[in-house]
Amino acid sequence: MTSLAENDTVSTPTAVTSLPGVVAGVRHTFGSRVTRPLSWRKKQLERMIAMLEENEAAFSEALATDLGKPDIEGYITDIAFVIGEVKLMLKNLRRWNRPERVRTPIVAMPASSKRIPEPLGVVLVIAPWNYPVQLLLVPAAGAIAAGNAVVMKPSEVSSATSALLARLVPKYLDSSAIALVEGGVPETTALLAERFDHIFYTGNGTVGRVVMRAAAEHLTPVTLELGGKSPTIVHSSADLEVTAKRIAWGKWLNAGQTCVAPDYVLVEKSVETDFVEHLRNAIAEFYGDDPQTSGSFGRIVSDRHFDRLSALLCGGRVIVGGDTDRAERYISPTVITDVDLTSPLMNEEIFGPILPIVPIDSISDAISFVNSRPHPLALYVFAEKKSVVDHVLTHTTAGGVTVNGTLMHLTSPYLPFGGVGESGMGAYHGETGVRIFQHRKPVLSRSTKVDPSLAYPPYTERKAKIFRKVL
Ligand code: NAD
Repeated sequence: MTSLAENDTVSTPTAVTSLPGVVAGVRHTFGSRVTRPLSWRKKQLERMIAMLEENEAAFSEALATDLGKPDIEGYITDIAFVIGEVKLMLKNLRRWNRPERVRTPIVAMPASSKRIPEPLGVVLVIAPWNYPVQLLLVPAAGAIAAGNAVVMKPSEVSSATSALLARLVPKYLDSSAIALVEGGVPETTALLAERFDHIFYTGNGTVGRVVMRAAAEHLTPVTLELGGKSPTIVHSSADLEVTAKRIAWGKWLNAGQTCVAPDYVLVEKSVETDFVEHLRNAIAEFYGDDPQTSGSFGRIVSDRHFDRLSALLCGGRVIVGGDTDRAERYISPTVITDVDLTSPLMNEEIFGPILPIVPIDSISDAISFVNSRPHPLALYVFAEKKSVVDHVLTHTTAGGVTVNGTLMHLTSPYLPFGGVGESGMGAYHGETGVRIFQHRKPVLSRSTKVDPSLAYPPYTERKAKIFRKVL
């Protein structure tokens, strides 16, 4: 295993003036059809796995530098997650890229019909900092599996991971078709001025709008994986001990910097006290009496986010945690009650280790609360009563849902993952994560052996009668 070299901890923005050339370069390669054969795609995907496996220690170190990620957390959520997705792509590479026969309507007979998947061209992947390996490489792998050329832009905020990827990607992958550009706003702005055939953006909605506006100039389709406040509903029938543990795990993983982390809890008043007690116990069990010394708890990514989160603490009454240490960018797992519903705590995506608890009278109130806000990326409902779960599912909309759990719907490659409304558009993971980078070209092939004259003019009463019968 290699270790993190000195110069890997600082990312170096790619020169803005070189970016049109970078895009033109991979476009030229795409045009030469190098990326088309399945053998090329297979090799790149295998090399991506090798890059992750052979440099696991370096990735762990970079993730620890950027986010204080515990090794095992980085391994599960960034490294193993990508490997799992890529292995599935390798297994299904042929199946997901072969033409599919479909039926032909009687009016077109005799003929056959199929859909031929073809790559879109050059795909731009723009990633954020919170799972900086996974959120860059999974969409990039999907684009490669579909036969595209790719430009990847990791987040400058997770600079150690960005620098490591910048060193490794050209070493492992075919850089004539797969480029990695480092940098922040100027570099991304310059990239967005170029023409791409698909843009896959993960990050906040404000920048999502910037991306979509830039894409419109070239009529480029976009996938926007955004965020929002993901509600967690706790019904009085829930198993409160398990519920508290599962919420605590989903909330404080990566110090709360997870797009689908429970943002706030709506708990039925009758069980609020018990639930909070279980939550307090879960935090102590997971992170000990002093979570700052725990090897299982991460750090806030930057001073800017630390200051933003610290300011949110005054949105209610802190009943667990609330400790901060700016030098370490540490904020303890924090639970807040008596929440001011008009405060930023309840109106901005928290994206950190602070969990507000809002008591509600009934599930109907919880549903009204959720529906009075933009559609969330995720929604969680905890209840043993199936009728309650069904009622919530029927009356709310969200990008995805886990029932009696948190985050888990994201981990399944058999479920598409994405947002709806303000939380994004389009989805990926598993087969969906390859299909979005294909044009499934519809082709209808007719035979000339028979040439029924029915559709040809002149239109007669007899022809009209037949049409009215068969159509
Ligand atoms: P970020 O600051 O790293 O920004 C994301 C990307 O956008 C970066 O590559 C950055 O360089 C680029 N960028 C920033 N400003 C830009 C600008 N003005 N013009 C062009 N590009 C620009 O990450 P972030 O936005 O802070 O990420 C956190 C957000 O992402 C949260 O809202 C979170 O919920 C969301 N998120 C969503 C998912 C998902 O899968 N839906 C996953 C992770 C994070």
